[in-house]
Amino acid sequence: MINLSLSELGAALAAGQISSVELTQLFLDRCARENPRLNAFICLDQARALDAARAADAARAAGRAGPLTGIPLAHKDIFCARGWRTTCASRMLENFVSPYDAHVVGLLQDAGMVLVGKTNMDEFAMGSSNETSYFGPVKNPWDHTMVPGGSSGGSAAAIAARLVPAATGTDTGGSIRQPAALCGLSGLKPTYGVCSRYGMIAFASSLDQAGPMAKSAEDCALMLNAMAGFDARDSTSLDRPAENYTRLLGEPLAGLRIGLPREYFAAGLDAGVHAVVDAALDQFRKLGAVTVDISLPNSGLSVPAYYVIAPAEASSNLSRFDGVRYGHRAADYSDLADMYCRSRAEGFGAEVKRRILIGTYVLSHGYYDAYYLQAQKIRRLIARDFQAAFEHCDLIMGPTAPDVAFPLGAKSADPVQMYLNDIYTIAANLAGLPGMSIPCGFARGLPVGLQLVGAWFDEARMLGAAHQYQLNTDWHRAMPAGL
Ligand code: GLN
Repeated sequence: MINLSLSELGAALAAGQISSVELTQLFLDRCARENPRLNAFICLDQARALDAARAADAARAAGRAGPLTGIPLAHKDIFCARGWRTTCASRMLENFVSPYDAHVVGLLQDAGMVLVGKTNMDEFAMGSSNETSYFGPVKNPWDHTMVPGGSSGGSAAAIAARLVPAATGTDTGGSIRQPAALCGLSGLKPTYGVCSRYGMIAFASSLDQAGPMAKSAEDCALMLNAMAGFDARDSTSLDRPAENYTRLLGEPLAGLRIGLPREYFAAGLDAGVHAVVDAALDQFRKLGAVTVDISLPNSGLSVPAYYVIAPAEASSNLSRFDGVRYGHRAADYSDLADMYCRSRAEGFGAEVKRRILIGTYVLSHGYYDAYYLQAQKIRRLIARDFQAAFEHCDLIMGPTAPDVAFPLGAKSADPVQMYLNDIYTIAANLAGLPGMSIPCGFARGLPVGLQLVGAWFDEARMLGAAHQYQLNTDWHRAMPAGL
């Protein structure tokens, strides 16, 4: 049961082979057993989960069940969920209970999914290893001495250990795709504007996107069907006709043109990862796709541009945490200014402070033109690179991350080394493009992710290509030993 896809779980529920209460209890028991070792959840709520499961069973009995009704789910703790503690893995929000639901949370609830808990993450989604969480690091289920990737590392670890069949994540520079790669999962970042950011605690608003994480592309498509859609409460939400993201799952690969950016297969890519990605591309060719060499000439500038733009936006977004309206307030202070300073000094961790300092600096008078404006120009060049590339190909493929999961603590002292983990994922965020990672093999016993990047709004084609690959391979079914 724990390795079934969402559609298989949906079929088992529809056939009455299992009730949502039984299924939820099964996963809750696994959470109780495994979470103390993995630290994938910040919060689990058995009573609320079982209430939701009973409601799902009742909806089914009343003939109101959809494809996801009754299936357990976890949300990254960046999503506000009414009545749930919503911490963003920060001391700043340690005791914050959200009075409302994020749009995506409401949609998945309307779809009948059963929320079992909120997953651990890097503090305010800043990180690539899930080690900046106030609640401690998450462990990779494939090897407990390794990081799960970040910042949606708790969601990734929870699915990889089969503690939930699916979860939400957010991706500002790679935080869905990179942990999906390091934990052997499928994860999708939609085109910017497809999923509402309402109720998703803001990190870098022009880059943040919510998306699904699950075992397979088909599961991601089913989740995205429920998560996508216009929301007037997010001014960057796009008002487009509803799409069925499963509609191209059956599309054969014959004739599909896959662009291989030469910059993604150059120095810096681990040889083991390179070999596994090459083998996956061979499989795509065998299934009828053709590969074409392309170039994304400005991709070397994506990490520096991102680390100006994202901190700039973060420094502005995080100014709301002032100890007054909500969140942590220092116990001792001399006056108002001192209260702000102490509350923020105590409430934020080191990486968050680093981003606020960088962001404030690049936005300051005298440096704005040199850094922020320049980074915005580079951002435009990067988007144009993709636009030019999509004249020659339908999808772009390459490695998701330069290496497999690394040991806990290995990069914590060197922020630049940490930032380089996202070298292949950041460009899609800067350009607003959809991207996904699917498991495609192992190097040194750890999962390797293949990244797919599509043209704007081409999620369905990307999911279709990934699904065809998964019909012909078994990497997405592989489970860590001892489950
Ligand atoms: N690792 C990147 C960062 O630290 C991306 C994080 C994300 O996508 N939320 O900012």
